[in-house]
Amino acid sequence: MLTNEYVKRVYDQVQKRDGDQPEFLQAVYEVLDTLQPVVAKHPEYEANGVLERLVEPERVVKFRVAWVDDAGKVQVNRGYRVQFNSAIGPYKGGLRFHPTVNEGVIKFLGFEQILKNSLTTLPMGGGKGGSDFDPKGKSDAEVMRFCQAFMTELSRHIGQFTDVPAGDINVGAREIGYLFGQYKRIRDEYSGVLTGKGLEFGGSLARTEATGYGLCYYTAEALRVLKNDSFEGKTVVISGSGNVAIFATEKAQELGAKVVTASDSNGYVYDPDGIKLDIVKDIKLGHRGRIKEYAERVPGAEYHEGCSGVWTVPCDIALPCATQNEIDEASAEALVKNGCKVVCEGANMPSTPEAIAVYQKNGLLYGPAKAANAGGVAVSGLEMSQNSYRLSWTFEETDAKLKSIMESIVAESLAAAKEYGEEGDLMAGANIAGFVKVANAMVAQGIL
Ligand code: NDP
Repeated sequence: MLTNEYVKRVYDQVQKRDGDQPEFLQAVYEVLDTLQPVVAKHPEYEANGVLERLVEPERVVKFRVAWVDDAGKVQVNRGYRVQFNSAIGPYKGGLRFHPTVNEGVIKFLGFEQILKNSLTTLPMGGGKGGSDFDPKGKSDAEVMRFCQAFMTELSRHIGQFTDVPAGDINVGAREIGYLFGQYKRIRDEYSGVLTGKGLEFGGSLARTEATGYGLCYYTAEALRVLKNDSFEGKTVVISGSGNVAIFATEKAQELGAKVVTASDSNGYVYDPDGIKLDIVKDIKLGHRGRIKEYAERVPGAEYHEGCSGVWTVPCDIALPCATQNEIDEASAEALVKNGCKVVCEGANMPSTPEAIAVYQKNGLLYGPAKAANAGGVAVSGLEMSQNSYRLSWTFEETDAKLKSIMESIVAESLAAAKEYGEEGDLMAGANIAGFVKVANAMVAQGIL
């Protein structure tokens, strides 16, 4: 609950200005709530207007993306880039192509990204972008034409020292390739302006795996430190079957867990013997198919329509890896009832505030997205370093750096939580640790 007068004033202002952006309000409320003890102890933040500046993007770019489909018909989408905060480095954050994308969704993601990037300890500011374009059912040629049209406008606003986008939902290797190609053509410049690039043109080994692997490194470390426990022998429920879900499944299995589910926006599969990841990869990465196909190919596996049913499957650990607000209060109650003790978030803001309250009331180990899924942007930061040095690290080197960053995020979060009287609270700790560095940089750089 908001009790601090300064924090209340800032949140009221956000509500007045952005009342039509529910996801953004949700993300801001959660962060401000946990920052109350910090601003109470540091009057210089209020004196320098840090919170009111933090909740207002430095710049929002919104543009028309016109392209021609295979039938020769003109299509018009909306493009966005929110350059939220550059206090500690160039704007950095992914691009999402999904019909649900609007300004509020991109602003919530960009706001989360500020603190997430700070937690990685790498010099990256916060940004996010995307479009309401839906690549589902589009041909490769249509996706290419859309990406070229999108980058033609976006290229005016980004650059290796200004703003470095990456992938997110529906923006993977294919889209990043088309976007990079168009930037290079327009600017006549070969630079690390995007991350998540192909290995042949400046990409980093382990970037594809980074968010999912990082999520498991974070969860394993939190389990070790807080519960003296591990993944070994645990049953894990994972939602989604995209980039984050696939590599979270791979690492959880490697660490000795049994992952029993996978899902997409139509439904979920339950495989009591453990998900066969080569089949999921073949369906999703091989031919962009639907997860239903898994149950048709694997004897003993069940398919259920609707994605929220995945949270009714008994498990020890839940790793939501699909999208925002995918776990509501009822799903959280179902998880607890069926024995779940740990929820760590691969997706951005997958738990509603009511779901988080259920985790807290029942003493679950809760790893919030901005800490638990920071591995993707961390390796993006490492990709930027490699591009600047014009060299490539091996998979093992990059993976070892990723693991150490995720372990240090757990330590940083717990130390910050302890300092402000919230011992063991990974959510408060992540918000506080991420915030303090950005806030101090904002104070030092003056009122901008
Ligand atoms: P992908 O596009 O690779 O996969 C997304 C998965 O989630 C798909 O299985 C998709 O199903 C499902 N999904 C998407 N939207 C919905 C919805 N509204 N309801 C139910 N299921 C849905 O994306 P990523 O794996 O890259 O991203 C997943 C999450 O992780 C997002 O929240 C993203 O912001 C976050 N994230 C990603 C990072 C990265 O490095 N890629 C880094 C940090 C966070 P379908 O195919 O049917 O749409």
